[in-house]
Amino acid sequence: METTAAQPSPARSLSTEAVHAGREDLAGLGLHAPPLDLSTTYPSYDSRAEAARIDAFATTGERPDGPPVYARLDNPTTARFENALARLEGTESAVAFASGMAALTACLLARAGAGLRHVVAVRPLYGCSDHLLTAGLLGTEVTWVQPEGIAEAIRPDTGLVLVESPANPTLAELDLAAIAEACGEVPLLADNTFATPVLQRPAESGARIVLHSATKYLGGHGDVLAGVVACDEEFARQLRQVRFATGGVLHPLAGYLLLRGLSTLPVRMRAASETAAELARRLGSDPRIARVHYPRLGGAMVAFEVHGDPHEVISGVRLITPAVSLGSVDTLIQHPASISHRIVDAGDRRAAGVSDRLLRMSVGLESTEDLWADLDQALGAEPARVDRTGPRAETATAAAGR
Ligand SMILES: *Cc1c(COP(=O)(O)O)cnc(C)c1O
Repeated sequence: METTAAQPSPARSLSTEAVHAGREDLAGLGLHAPPLDLSTTYPSYDSRAEAARIDAFATTGERPDGPPVYARLDNPTTARFENALARLEGTESAVAFASGMAALTACLLARAGAGLRHVVAVRPLYGCSDHLLTAGLLGTEVTWVQPEGIAEAIRPDTGLVLVESPANPTLAELDLAAIAEACGEVPLLADNTFATPVLQRPAESGARIVLHSATKYLGGHGDVLAGVVACDEEFARQLRQVRFATGGVLHPLAGYLLLRGLSTLPVRMRAASETAAELARRLGSDPRIARVHYPRLGGAMVAFEVHGDPHEVISGVRLITPAVSLGSVDTLIQHPASISHRIVDAGDRRAAGVSDRLLRMSVGLESTEDLWADLDQALGAEPARVDRTGPRAETATAAAGR
C-alpha cells in the first residue's frame, strides 16, 4: 500500500505520469493491475496501537500509518488515484470525494470550521456550485464579483476565492495568475474540471486548491461519480478530517475506475480537443449560429448560441446524446438554461453571460465528420436569421467582456 504523499516529479512528462503514477509499488507486489480493496473495516489485535493511530489522524489529518482502521478514514485503492492526480496537477496531495459537490462542500466546511465563512466568487460557475453558495446551505456568505473586484471584496473572514476557468457553461477564461495575486493570503480555489491538468495546472499559477468533478474527464467514461481536490498537504489534512467527519467518501471501485481513467486522460483530451476545435471553427462560419464560445486554451467543450430555438436542436440530434454532464468518450449536448444552470436565478444566469439560446456540447471521440453531419441535420430545421451582420467565432473571454 502506498500511503506517502505524492511527490511532484518534474522529470517525467504528463503522459508518462498518467500511466505510472499511483502504481509505483505494483511490480514489487508482483502485480500489474492495481488491487481493489473493498474492505469497510480492518482487523487489528492491538487496540492500543489502533487508538494511537486514531488519535494521530484526529489531531493531524495525516493518512494513517498502516491499515486505515475504517473505510471512511482512508482506502488504499482510492489513495492510488489521489497520489496519481496530485502528480498530474503538480501538488503535494489530493483528497477524493463521492462527487464534485462533496469535494466543494468539504473545502467550504474546512474554511468555515475555522471561522472563515465568507466566500468571494466569480460567475459563471457550474449551476450547483452557484446554488450552494447563493443559498448559503453551509452557513457561508458569498460576494459575487468581476475578476477585477476580488481584492476589494476580501474581508478578514474571507475563507476562499472561488473561480472556474474555462467556466461552465460559457467557457469564459480567467487570468489565474493575476487572480491568485489579487487573493493575497486567501486561498484561491480553481475548478479545473473543464481544462484538466492536460491543458492547465492551476497550482502553477498560484491556486492553492484545485478542484475537479472527477465525474467528467478524469473518469472519462460516464460511469463514475466523483470529486477530488489537489492541494498542499496542510489543506489536505483538513479535508481528510472533514471527509471523515461528514462521510462524503468515494467508493473504492470508483477510485479504481478513476485511476484507470487517468491513464488515458492525455490521449482522450488531445483527440477530443482536436475535434472540438474543428467543430467550433465550422460552427463559427455557419449562418445558423449567432456566436461560438471556444477557449483560447483549447479543450473538448464547445458552447454556441443559435438564432433559432435551442430546444429544437436538442430534440434533433441522433448520434450526439442529449444529456447533461460532460467529459465522456461520446459527445453530449445540453441546454444550460434548462438543465445544468436551471437552478441559478434566470437574471443572475443571463447577467453571467449564459444566454437562453446557449447550447453546451462536450465533444467525445467520434469522428469529426460524423459529429458535424449530426449537428448539421439537427441545426437544419433552424431558421437562418436574415438581419445578421455575419457570423464569427469569438473566444469566450472576448464574449464575456460584452
Ligand atoms: C459537474 C461539475 C461539478 C459538480 O460535480 P459532480 O461530480 O456532478 O458533483 C462541479 N464543477 C464543475 C465545473 C462541473 O462541471
